[in-house]
Amino acid sequence: MTKVLFAAAEAAPFYKTGGLGDVSLALPKALKAAGVKIRVVIPYYEALFPEKYRDQVKDLLHFTVQVGDKLQYCGIKTLQLDGLDYYLIDNQDYFGREGLYGYWDDGERFAFFQMAICEMLERVDYIPDVLHLNDWHTAFIPVLLKEKYYWIKAYRQIKTVLTIHNMQFQGIYDPVILDSLFKIGWQTFNEDGIAFYDQVNFLKAGINFADAVNTVSPTYAQEIQTPQFGERLDGVLRANQAKLSGIMNGIDMQLYDPATDAALTATYSAKDLTPKALDKAALQKAVGLPEADVPVLAVVSRLTTQKGMDLLLDALDEFLKKQAAQVIVLGTGDPALEHAFEIYQLAYPDQVAAQIKFDVKLAQQIYAGSDIFIMPSAFEPSGLSQMMAMRYGTLPLVHLVGGLKDTVVPYNQYTGAGTGFGFDDYQPVVLRKIMTLAVTLYHEDPKAWRQLQQQAMMPDFGWGKSAKKYQHIYQMITS
Ligand code: ADP
Repeated sequence: MTKVLFAAAEAAPFYKTGGLGDVSLALPKALKAAGVKIRVVIPYYEALFPEKYRDQVKDLLHFTVQVGDKLQYCGIKTLQLDGLDYYLIDNQDYFGREGLYGYWDDGERFAFFQMAICEMLERVDYIPDVLHLNDWHTAFIPVLLKEKYYWIKAYRQIKTVLTIHNMQFQGIYDPVILDSLFKIGWQTFNEDGIAFYDQVNFLKAGINFADAVNTVSPTYAQEIQTPQFGERLDGVLRANQAKLSGIMNGIDMQLYDPATDAALTATYSAKDLTPKALDKAALQKAVGLPEADVPVLAVVSRLTTQKGMDLLLDALDEFLKKQAAQVIVLGTGDPALEHAFEIYQLAYPDQVAAQIKFDVKLAQQIYAGSDIFIMPSAFEPSGLSQMMAMRYGTLPLVHLVGGLKDTVVPYNQYTGAGTGFGFDDYQPVVLRKIMTLAVTLYHEDPKAWRQLQQQAMMPDFGWGKSAKKYQHIYQMITS
């Protein structure tokens, strides 16, 4: 049986800032259900660790990790939850902060994390066949195994998989860290290795040195090999094409189920969508909008340009002036974008609600209570929200890129086929046009709308199929 250690910087239900957190819960769970022996390792962000799991955390052991010339404490804690075994890496200086990322010393924090993982393996006596790495925070490990820990014989058979959840974040640092953090030589500091415009690039290191690399949707795997989406690593990805694949993310179909979701005012299913109207009324009330029978368009997202929020802001004014519709935005992010949505709320108090916060329960109520889910991402590695919206019979309206293209079938007015709405040309007027088309259909053809909702609720977005594909990768690299 393949033995796997899944390493990530965040995992729900402990901490999540986005899709990586969701995947780090759901994928190990699905792999375990498929018979893979798997454990998960994440940092122990003490201040953020949820109260309700605290008394289940146990101290296993501790040791020191040499970070440059400093010896740093490294505690290994364990926790078992829903049959999954977790290792939590503890160091107060690095991880006892108010947030997960965005600190001046992130490079050092995740250098420590990666060395701690490597040094933990033999101490906890869990030496995996496959180390499954996620994003830049863990992408340097294949280099460490090769350059720093090659003397540990038991580590030599470890294979590595790197899953890229977002090409935009790469972990780029001055090469001085090779000595000042990792204490390794310069052998790999070249263009075919870890060097990137005279800097060290963690993600590039992983792409070049991992045994297999994948991204989180088939279309994104293709797109990142082009200059438009490759974030200056398209050449590196093309050179590693033979070991690169795209595996679509899934969602937890049990957790996200409108028939059982406890966060909803009324539960419902594809067979009978009538109670969804009660969720809509409750949502309008909760965010302070009139309980009018107009289409509710919603956003649950990081408020960033990646997510196309600037495009939406540009399209919104004309749209709101002309259409009887409401727009609800739940999210946090770029302060200028947050502010712009708040201004819209002031200008259109009966049509716009700007909820600038992170609120998982409200997110569920929005997936259920709105009619259209807007996701105009400039690029989208996978996207989970569009699948959640469809699961709740809320039609996604998306820019047809990456995982959005792989999961949403755009409405065809001639055949009635589709599970949402889509556009290609990335322009505010195009977005406004498709939003107008969607609300017109909502007003004028309730039967077609109902049919689209039912079609959107049909697909199985569960992790089963994707887990099999990951298993296949594990098999390929270990046999
Ligand atoms: P990304 O990982 O790029 O941010 P995804 O669509 O893959 O985007 O995943 C976003 C996840 O985060 C979804 O589960 C979504 O519901 C959740 N989310 C985003 N913003 C918020 C928020 N403000 N409140 C609650 N949940 C949010």
